[in-house]
Amino acid sequence: MGLIPPKWLERMVEAYRDPSLERAVYGEVLTRSDIERLLSETPLHPMAAAADYYARVIKKGVGSYIVNIYLAYTNVCVTRCTFCDFYVPPERRSSGYTHPPEHLGRVAGLARKRLGVREVHMVGGNDPELPLEYYEEAIREIKRVAPGVVLKAFTAEEIGFIAKATGNTPKEVLARFREAGLDALPGGGAEVLSEEVRKRIAPLKISSDEYLEIHRLAHSMGIRSNITLLYAHIEEPRHVAEHLYRIRRLQEETGGFISFIPIRFNPGKTPLSRHPEYVKKGDRGGLYDLRIVAASRLALLGAIDNIMAYWVSMGEKLAQAALSHGANDIGGTFYNESVISAASSLRKRKGMSPARLVFNIATAGWTPMERDTFYNYYPPRAEPPRLPWMQG
Ligand code: SF4
Repeated sequence: MGLIPPKWLERMVEAYRDPSLERAVYGEVLTRSDIERLLSETPLHPMAAAADYYARVIKKGVGSYIVNIYLAYTNVCVTRCTFCDFYVPPERRSSGYTHPPEHLGRVAGLARKRLGVREVHMVGGNDPELPLEYYEEAIREIKRVAPGVVLKAFTAEEIGFIAKATGNTPKEVLARFREAGLDALPGGGAEVLSEEVRKRIAPLKISSDEYLEIHRLAHSMGIRSNITLLYAHIEEPRHVAEHLYRIRRLQEETGGFISFIPIRFNPGKTPLSRHPEYVKKGDRGGLYDLRIVAASRLALLGAIDNIMAYWVSMGEKLAQAALSHGANDIGGTFYNESVISAASSLRKRKGMSPARLVFNIATAGWTPMERDTFYNYYPPRAEPPRLPWMQG
């Protein structure tokens, strides 16, 4: 790619003599071992300076948020991921829920009308008893009752599961969902795209190869998608490096990823929280989150432009700090968020107001803008604060 860093950054990086960081600031595509070094050895301070500098250059100083609603259509799931406190197994189906399409449409319609949401983010458990028609009806109903809303729904994991459970191919499922009105895929279900970790934390999920193949397929059909990383559990830097390296390769091939979203693991009462490896590693502290964000920005430089500081998993204050470590977006209002909160020790979250999101973006030194799923920008819904250090 080839980049010319400003003199101050060049001097800073020279002083630290870190070959991987040097390659990153001059825009070279990083190898897996470069990324691993950024995640484990490179001092955070110059790496954050470089990541923040390029984030602001690429995004022309615009930091963003989206007004969205989170819908979970069912919490019945057979996949039993070790990090998940959200699901109810089929044998306890009666204590779970599956929302009928009409209910999903009604909630989306109200959210569009009363809260002006631009996006419905919808995901759910893997329930083999739901027919393909259920999903199609849900999509149609949401698009009918909430016209103009962007429907970002069904992770690649869900697409893979629905395909197997209903006797279709992932391509057939994607084609039918697109026909019904699906606009984009969320990025969940990626966890860590390294079989060494994935097999231990989510052994019943589709493999990393299958997961990426569904994104490749979606992109080839004109359906754009997002991609996540679940971190702060049993992974090592080499696993995160493999994850970032693989998604960069796919993005270079298809250009279909909209954003990269690192998600911190919230232990709650999940089986993973009692895993000896997790217990041994312990709480890695907030600087680990910032390192993940900064290294991701540099590893994905020139490939994926949008890195999210996902406040739902990081917490508000750390998410704001991430906006000066390489992230350019704080995520959404996430009204009705439930999956992450179920696995956190915090009370169930009801979302964050646009005014609060604007405050966090503006006080991190960005020009706040509202966006849609595809990063088209709109004026923010709240006046940004004017603080002394933001003048001039
Ligand atoms: S993370 Fe998703 S697939 Fe895994 S158990 Fe929870 S609901 Fe099921």
